[in-house]
Amino acid sequence: MQSEEIRQLFLEFFEKKGHKILPSASLIPDDPQLMFTVAGMVPFKPIFWGKVDPIYTRIATCQKCIRTTDIENVGRTPRHHTFFEMLGNFSFGDYFKREAIELAWEFITQILKIPEEKLWISVYEKDDEAYEIWRNVGIPSQKILRLGKEDNFWGPAGPTGPCGPDTEIFYDTGMEVETADGKEPNPANTEGRFVEIWNLVFTEYYQDENGNLLPLKRRNIDTGAGLERIAAMMQGVYYNFDTDLFLPIINRISDILKVDYAKDQRKDVSIRVIADHIRALVFLISDGVFPSNEGRGYVLRRILRRAARHGKLLGADRPFLYNVVDAVVEKMGKIYPEIVEKSNFVKKIIHGEEERFLQNLNKGLEIVEKVVRESGGKIDGKSAFKLYDTYGFPLDILKDLANENGYVLDEEGFNKYMEEQRKKARNAAGEVEFSERTEYESLNFHTEFVGYDTLETDVKVLKIK
Ligand code: ATP
Ligand code: MG
Ligand code: MG
Ligand code: MG
Repeated sequence: MQSEEIRQLFLEFFEKKGHKILPSASLIPDDPQLMFTVAGMVPFKPIFWGKVDPIYTRIATCQKCIRTTDIENVGRTPRHHTFFEMLGNFSFGDYFKREAIELAWEFITQILKIPEEKLWISVYEKDDEAYEIWRNVGIPSQKILRLGKEDNFWGPAGPTGPCGPDTEIFYDTGMEVETADGKEPNPANTEGRFVEIWNLVFTEYYQDENGNLLPLKRRNIDTGAGLERIAAMMQGVYYNFDTDLFLPIINRISDILKVDYAKDQRKDVSIRVIADHIRALVFLISDGVFPSNEGRGYVLRRILRRAARHGKLLGADRPFLYNVVDAVVEKMGKIYPEIVEKSNFVKKIIHGEEERFLQNLNKGLEIVEKVVRESGGKIDGKSAFKLYDTYGFPLDILKDLANENGYVLDEEGFNKYMEEQRKKARNAAGEVEFSERTEYESLNFHTEFVGYDTLETDVKVLKIK
């Protein structure tokens, strides 16, 4: 089953169950607390908070998401992306636990026809109600894990706010990857054999300043299922990258760089990172994010530079990412017309950024080599910061280099230098932002001023979910 059909079946199913289908909101949320839309619930946050009353009490969407905290996971796990699509159904004071669980179960087993024996469940350890509902659905007790707050309790997003227990549905790929170290397969570890496909959150509490959980006046349902993971499950592949969502992009990369996919594991990692990152770049730029040294724009830079460095590993010495844009537009343009409309602009931005970074990439890599040669495999904080500051190496690249080659990277040292520079930059912030912006203003593309978000904002909010 192709991804397009999954998206459609999901929305049709929930429409039949009385949900209003809404289009995806922008990746840039209308929300000062958040850098990006990180989940399907983000556009509805004011309703969850009780600040706004809902027009519809049942909604379903397929929402574009960006999770920068997963950048390093991309290429390392089979199923984490920076950009991904989240299928979700929401209830605002309408149905609650029982119906939410039954709806998800019906969709997976009746519509997608996944065999029940392939599915596992986790619930919050104190949530006997959810546990009983799953037992009544017919799940044997040994396949319902009771986990702690860290795994199965959502929120609040900040010191106070709505929160509640959740329940997650896992798919057993049957791959014995986790048993290599002699441990039992563990569904709670979703980086190997078991895939977390769907999270159902029961926002029923409000957490006050003292950490007390008070009942909310409106009990809500917030669910999220990754389309890429469902596609992998439906297409019987272990890597999300081997689904129809990514293969056309991978084939384009493989053609352009003349490297075969699925021949060499190291090269596959690079190809997958590029395939992931190019989607993020296309969607972010189309939603109005520009490269810069601050906030959202810097996330864009990090993603682009990491992709360019992986391109270099595959032998690319010239800009090539901009040439992959069309493959993304061909695959996703029907669903997201904004990327068709902006495609030439997107290519222009990517090409310019690639060109500029490539000049520094070679010099930076030479410095890394020299540093590790002289130190016996260490990248000290000062050198790491110099690579960042002078050669435009985001920390992601240094982490990749350290992982690939077994170098020791002094992140703490790097952060110290970084913090010092931030203090200095705060005093001159206006100027920096201005020079970054004028560069793109000449391209005559409208965007909002993104303000002075820092990367931490994103991390803080993401940690919660
Ligand atoms: P994981 O434990 O795998 O990192 P999560 O618990 O962080 O996932 P949730 O916040 O519960 O994910 O998001 C709901 C769903 O969105 C997940 O069950 C998964 O299907 C999907 N999802 C989350 N993060 C990603 C990602 N980085 N790439 C692709 N899909 C994702
Ligand atoms: Mg996660
Ligand atoms: Mg999880
Ligand atoms: Mg989860």
